[in-house]
Amino acid sequence: MGAVLNVVHDNLHELRVDDRRMLFHIPTSSLFALDALTGALLDEIRRNSLSAEALVADLGARFGAREVDEAIRELIALDLLSDGRPAHAAPRRHEFERFPLTTVVLNVNTGCNLSCTYCYKEDLDKPSAGRKMSFDTARDAVELVLRESPDEKRYTVVFFGGEPLSNLRLIKEVVAYCEARFAALGKQVDFVMTTNATLLNDETIDWLAAHRFGLSISMDGPQAIHDRNRLTVGGQGTYETVRRKAERLLSRYTARPVGARVTLTHGTTEIERIWDHLFNELGFAEVGFAPVTSGDIDTFNLTGDELVEVFEGLKRLGRRYLAAALEGRNIGFSNMHQLITDLHEGHKKALPCGAGLKMLAVDHKGELNLCHRFTGSSLPTFGDVSGGIKHRELGDFLAQRLDRSGTGCDTCRIRNLCSGGCYHESYARYGDPAHPTYHYCDLMRDWVDFGIEIYSRIMAGNPAFIEQHISPRRA
Ligand code: SF4
Ligand code: SF4
Repeated sequence: MGAVLNVVHDNLHELRVDDRRMLFHIPTSSLFALDALTGALLDEIRRNSLSAEALVADLGARFGAREVDEAIRELIALDLLSDGRPAHAAPRRHEFERFPLTTVVLNVNTGCNLSCTYCYKEDLDKPSAGRKMSFDTARDAVELVLRESPDEKRYTVVFFGGEPLSNLRLIKEVVAYCEARFAALGKQVDFVMTTNATLLNDETIDWLAAHRFGLSISMDGPQAIHDRNRLTVGGQGTYETVRRKAERLLSRYTARPVGARVTLTHGTTEIERIWDHLFNELGFAEVGFAPVTSGDIDTFNLTGDELVEVFEGLKRLGRRYLAAALEGRNIGFSNMHQLITDLHEGHKKALPCGAGLKMLAVDHKGELNLCHRFTGSSLPTFGDVSGGIKHRELGDFLAQRLDRSGTGCDTCRIRNLCSGGCYHESYARYGDPAHPTYHYCDLMRDWVDFGIEIYSRIMAGNPAFIEQHISPRRA
């Protein structure tokens, strides 16, 4: 008699969508519809630990002995069944020898012409006190990426602030430099910017279009919501100006779809109303929501109850995303779209994001930070654009986050989607960017279960939506 088989519970999460049994393969974040044989096998082993031979004897008459044997082998290969041999464990310690940098974020000015009450930027200055990045620093940053990672085909330069358009002169110089430099190397470069829109005019819009910028506008929703926090330095609401500028941009900018980025802070949980205004009334192509739970100013953080409300709102909008997807329409709900993309592609994220690995943020002095949210923070930087990356320090930081042993993430069913959560959230909450973001794990797990349900329903009802709206994005 062979070894007794057991279900590897840490690798398998089962959900029911109507009468279908869905299996979420946790190591690869992949989703399968369970067929009758695999479902029966798992049920049988859950009832009694049995050997492969006993299972074939039990189920062979119903499904065929060869088929049962093959299904068992497949489940063992996927680490969903264990016959006692060690599973294909993830490496505990990883040495980083190189950093496949493809994205550099340039903090072109610490100054912002607005004074949004909740702003998290630790190096934010009033417009007059803004410290601007020099062209030499920006050029050295681009050269550092090319030096570190010379073999990529495509690179991205992100312009960030403060308000990046308050240093448009530098942005234009950097774009001219990059276009010539990357073209000479036969490589592609993309430009991306998040802006508050207030400094946009037709000339700037056309220039951005000529260079195919990926744009996202910070806007919090209709006036009553937007003007709660997004204020001028003098304390006036900015909604009217931002709406006017956004409408002009959306009517004129055809180079790429323009997204809106919504910051949700204490007192703001009206997801559907915000989406409706930005998508239906103003015409943004995408709307993404960023809930703030660990900002520096405690009074702006969403409370626990508000966070629950936010997730309920996200799910209600998710149901509208599903209804539209079944009719072949995409309602531009970025958070849902990203989750569906991750599930469709079976993303296996060992780290929560590209910060520190594929992306570094350069502050106005040229120092290297994990991402744009760390510039100006007291976390030690990881080198600078002239001296280069402090490889050992950066590698040690990433290796520490990669090693999940002893953390709740080790056995968490969304460990390869969440991967411990945003470093900056952890830093703001626990003072340690390597600490997992434990404060809303249950809500995140519930959100992923919801995404699995939505994805399964789209796959069953209109798989062409995935082909049209998810696969081309990947290409
Ligand atoms: S932070 Fe929480 S939800 Fe995320 S992987 Fe870790 S335990 Fe899971
Ligand atoms: S650390 Fe957080 S804020 Fe920074 S890039 Fe990653 S997810 Fe975004």
